[in-house]
Amino acid sequence: MKSFVTEQLQKGLIDMSDGDSWVRFKSSCERLGIILSDDKIQKFQTFYEHLIEKNKVMNLTAITELDDVIDRHFIDSLSLRRVCDAEMIHSLLDLGTGAGFPGIPLAIVYPGLQICLVDSLNKRVGFLNEMIRILNLENCTAVHGRAEDLAALPLYREKFDVCVSRAVSAMNVLSEYCLPFVRTGGTFIAYKGNQVDEEVKAAARSIKVLGGKLVKCEEFELDDTGYRRTFIVINKTAKTPSRYPRKAGTPAKDPI
Ligand code: SAH
Repeated sequence: MKSFVTEQLQKGLIDMSDGDSWVRFKSSCERLGIILSDDKIQKFQTFYEHLIEKNKVMNLTAITELDDVIDRHFIDSLSLRRVCDAEMIHSLLDLGTGAGFPGIPLAIVYPGLQICLVDSLNKRVGFLNEMIRILNLENCTAVHGRAEDLAALPLYREKFDVCVSRAVSAMNVLSEYCLPFVRTGGTFIAYKGNQVDEEVKAAARSIKVLGGKLVKCEEFELDDTGYRRTFIVINKTAKTPSRYPRKAGTPAKDPI
């Protein structure tokens, strides 16, 4: 399959500098310790093409310029490498994945990692299933549902090595969404902006009650873009009491 960028370059429909964007993407990945094969880069190009096309008819992303998508969706998603070597784990759940961030970039880069994408908006899950098929991501499934409902099911409860989540909710609420999915000994990692101190403080009780223990808040600059990001890393040290998560809507309305 010819890549979107190659095709568009040949047709003269995009600027040669878009080729530079993908070269830059490859270097940024290398700085994270991720070596991208041409096949994987092609998958990111195809993902970008479909994301932008589908975004015209449904709300998937506010960020559409190629360089911005590369930095703020792709590199940001893959920055997980700073706190977690995904080659050392078997299963990961992305809660509230939206258009597939961070889950799809992780699924492209780590074919050996079983990834479960979860979102409560069925339209978005439709898009994700289409992407999984087009990109031939055999390690990835998309599930429609709310965290509160799915985490109560034996199929999902305490079954994942790692649960990640980006831009879904504040830490006190997010902990109730995510920690029930994580096996004891596993990790919950939240993608956050800067200045997380207050948010983490407000979530201390919730994290403890749900069986978690704060390991660290790792702040960094997103590959020289000026964007400050923080990973909040929480270990699951004890089982989550069976009464959590509470029924759909309650965690957000009445955080622990
Ligand atoms: N993680 C993506 C999307 C963020 S938008 C990104 O960073 O780009 C938040 C997403 O979380 C939405 O798609 C919304 O449908 C989903 N969401 C919100 N609450 C949820 C819940 N309780 N269970 C599952 N998905 C939820």
